[in-house]
Amino acid sequence: MNDRANDQPTRHVPADLPGHIQHYIGGALVDSLDGGTFDVLDPVSNEVYVRAAAGQAADVDRAVAAARTAFTEGPWPRMLPRERSRVLHRIADLVESRDARLAELESFDSGLPITQALGQARRAAENFRFFADLVVAQADDAFKVPGRQLNYVNRKPIGVAGLITPWNTPFMLESWKLGPALATGNTVVLKPAEFTPLSASLWAGIFEEAGLPPGVFNLVNGLGEEAGDALVKHPDVPLISFTGESRTGETIFANAAPYLKGLSMELGGKSPAVVFADADLDAAIDATIFGVFSLNGERCTAGSRILVERAVYDEFVERYADQAKRVVVGDPHDPATEVGALVHPEHFAKVMGYVEIGKGEGRLVAGGGRPEGLETGNYVAPTVFADVPPSARIFQEEIFGPVVAITPFDTDEEALALANGVRYGLAAYVWTNDLRRAHTFSQAIEAGMVWLNSNNVRDLRTPFGGVKASGLGHEGGYRSIDFYTHQQAVHVTLGAAHHPTFGKGA
Ligand code: NAD
Repeated sequence: MNDRANDQPTRHVPADLPGHIQHYIGGALVDSLDGGTFDVLDPVSNEVYVRAAAGQAADVDRAVAAARTAFTEGPWPRMLPRERSRVLHRIADLVESRDARLAELESFDSGLPITQALGQARRAAENFRFFADLVVAQADDAFKVPGRQLNYVNRKPIGVAGLITPWNTPFMLESWKLGPALATGNTVVLKPAEFTPLSASLWAGIFEEAGLPPGVFNLVNGLGEEAGDALVKHPDVPLISFTGESRTGETIFANAAPYLKGLSMELGGKSPAVVFADADLDAAIDATIFGVFSLNGERCTAGSRILVERAVYDEFVERYADQAKRVVVGDPHDPATEVGALVHPEHFAKVMGYVEIGKGEGRLVAGGGRPEGLETGNYVAPTVFADVPPSARIFQEEIFGPVVAITPFDTDEEALALANGVRYGLAAYVWTNDLRRAHTFSQAIEAGMVWLNSNNVRDLRTPFGGVKASGLGHEGGYRSIDFYTHQQAVHVTLGAAHHPTFGKGA
């Protein structure tokens, strides 16, 4: 994969890239009404490889109208769960059968290492399969008041769901919203991230082949402040499921308020990995290396702060730094690559900015800039800062790249205060073999999800989401079904109606 003259990776360009990327509205590929486009770069050359249609409010209007017609007049919301489930399983089959192509395109567009992009493609298929199964097994409550009343839940889809997604693992995160939104009978308008529109352009073909009726899925590309904003403010879109930065979440929350929309907010993180001295250190080091450097560190649940008990601190830092230096950074398309190129030069500049800030805040023990031999492209060497105080910006702020802060602690109380001492609360990882401490500590952590002696391994049935600035509401398993449906209560009187009689007085 390397150009022997200067050791710089040569760029792999997938065959048959689209000439340009369009919207998909009402079953047809279309350009923006005003013909506007935006440039899309690949993160290895940082050259424009394609232009994508830049959706404006008028394009969003068209997409919402198509989705609304499909919802009010089309078959999808009225189909039996089993029929919708079959379509979703076919979608999963198609995604699986195209996993290599999907991974190739995702890796090219986002800079994710190809092996990890392949794993994400398979997870996308699994998301559809999971919700396809869940929706046929769905049971709803009925409440009996013997002889008097039967009350039951009539669950129904809500309407047009607006789905707004980020550029990290884009295809997989889109599937995480598309799966439950469609399984429950809604119609959707997806606005994917503008840095990475390539893999999303494959959904239309997959859905058509799987037999999804026209208008059920609509896609509008474009910038967040334009297409995303128009979707958030559209009166005919009662639901917004958003994944992205906390600050964007705040803006969307405010913009959606006048419409009283249903909101699901999956936001940023600065998750702690807490390593106690009694932990299995080999496993903890492996897992915390993977936890922050996989997916290029562009991972919402990255364990980007490692808190280590003083008794093992020096050993941990030394071994961690040595291993971090051996992490293979390189061409995203090379199967040996463990960390690829960051998604975009703007993001690269942001992460590099934090690396420089970190040099004044902590002790640099690995990385600290561009890896040797990779003079162009958005490459950052896995960077490790030790002795980072909790007041440091690299301890407090989400960097979203291959940069980690390590901080020592002496007591459980101090560890907890450090773990909770940031505005975020998405994930936490706890490493200890003390059963009582494991549970007590995990339960006290302000995080939506805690993994004990484990990396981030998802069980799709469990709640997914954060607390504090990391989000609002939980999706995952039945929580996703709840978000995308109304639970209408129907009260049925059995026997005589029982109410006081008014108006028959003397
Ligand atoms: P971002 O907030 O910049 O953008 C996310 C999406 O929102 C994009 O599609 C963007 O175009 C759109 N957008 C931007 N401004 C908008 C506006 N005013 N109105 C409507 N839409 C708008 O986030 P990003 O940089 O693409 O993604 C990285 C962030 O996502 C990180 O903070 C990461 O932690 C977070 N994330 C969270 C989770 C989770 O599940 N909690 C998962 C993945 C990523």
